[in-house]
Amino acid sequence: MEKDGFFYVKGEVMSKDLKIYNSLSGEKETFASIVPNQVGMYVCGPTVYSDVHLGNCRTFISFDMIYRYLLHLDYKVRYIRNITDAGHLENDADEGEDKISKKARLEELEPMEIVQKYATGFHDVMRLFNALPPSIEPTATGHIIEQIEITKSILEKGLAYESNGSVYFDVMKYDETSNYGELSKRKIEDLISGSRALDGQQEKRNPLDFALWKKASPSHIMRWPSPWSDGFPGWHLECTAMSHKYLGDEFDIHGGGMDLKFPHHECEIAQATAYTGKKPVNYWMHTNMLTLNGKKMSKSTGNNLLPYELFSGENQNIEKGYHPMVARFFMMQAHYRSELDFSSDALNASEKGFAKLMSGLGLVPSLKVSSESSENVKQMIEGFYAAMNDDFNTPILIARLFDAVTYINKVNDQKAEISAVDRDELAKVMQELVSDVLGLQPILASGLSDDAKNTLDATMDIILELRKNARAAKDWGTSDLIRDKLKEAGIVVKDEREGTSWSLQ
Ligand SMILES: [Zn+2]
Repeated sequence: MEKDGFFYVKGEVMSKDLKIYNSLSGEKETFASIVPNQVGMYVCGPTVYSDVHLGNCRTFISFDMIYRYLLHLDYKVRYIRNITDAGHLENDADEGEDKISKKARLEELEPMEIVQKYATGFHDVMRLFNALPPSIEPTATGHIIEQIEITKSILEKGLAYESNGSVYFDVMKYDETSNYGELSKRKIEDLISGSRALDGQQEKRNPLDFALWKKASPSHIMRWPSPWSDGFPGWHLECTAMSHKYLGDEFDIHGGGMDLKFPHHECEIAQATAYTGKKPVNYWMHTNMLTLNGKKMSKSTGNNLLPYELFSGENQNIEKGYHPMVARFFMMQAHYRSELDFSSDALNASEKGFAKLMSGLGLVPSLKVSSESSENVKQMIEGFYAAMNDDFNTPILIARLFDAVTYINKVNDQKAEISAVDRDELAKVMQELVSDVLGLQPILASGLSDDAKNTLDATMDIILELRKNARAAKDWGTSDLIRDKLKEAGIVVKDEREGTSWSLQ
């Protein structure tokens, strides 16, 4: 880990001792990867049968930040986020219709058209939120063979059984030697007494058993041949197949929304342990839920907000639209394990905060330097890393970045001082944390192509030349008008002894 670019401020601040809250142990643990300097991370991706939910976006943006921070710490990360394009039934009890097949029937489309349509939409939204693509984005339908092989192996080990063309995982048998419920802290006795046999579950020996393979009913469109029946894999199995294929028997981090802890992740642990004899994951990480105006989001009550509605403002639950970067900043202002409530008031506050942070950041490189700094910049930077190393505590990081912005503004107003070394370190570290780790870009710049940026540069040269002429002619009215109108348009003009500079807000 100790290499160039990993030391900040005279080599003394080191970004190590990362602690991660592990859902499995219920504690923050010092992170140690299986292979030094490398991390294998799997995150359960979307089921692509409808527009991606904002709650799902929060999960993926949280793991994007985690991925980015690990990269920033110079880990080589293999980040797998799957696409569920088959097998996710309408409820988790292995009954009902495949969500994608059902939507295909309703929209009169081929199932793969549904998958393509919503996967494209999902990628568009992730791009707007400036989320990096994962290293591999495998699909469930692309790994049917692997899922059949795992099912065969678990059957051979006696931890699954065939029933009427379907194959079920034998939870009671597994629990004899392992601990089913270890992640969600559920006791198997409570699960048994709390479960009820639903219609169509007579195939199972126990209601807790879950499908590895399901025989397809005659109307089921998505089906594949297998040794047991023409059918499809159980939903939980795909993540075991893909994480095992790309990350091995044991890997470092598995993430997802907290609603996936049970039964999905519990079943993943059981399947993988049955298959390889090893516990698959060292650190389980779960993100918390989103609420809207203090209430749970729900399509049926109308207390719902889709990403595009959040951007456009076309939704009764918010008063206007918000830029994706403001929404991302808003999400980063809450810890990933805390519940987060979307409301216009909170988003409006974030919009102001975001502008303040970005304009402070823009000032740092051009701050006038003195021989010494009036604040301890090294300590400031240590504070940034201490926050991130404490289970990716982005709200504390942002609070400390705001403290730095207050100092930057004071230096800019010549009420405080900064040395050249400290200024350059602060500029570098803040830029990297805001842009590379939090994934935040200046609003205008985030939407501009290189061509557009060049055009903007040329245009600003002309405008500032005209303003310079006005000032030379002591036409202060025109000079101020240009400055104020540019500010309204999101461009900040700054007059300094060396000349006039501008930046995007
Ligand atoms: Zn999964």
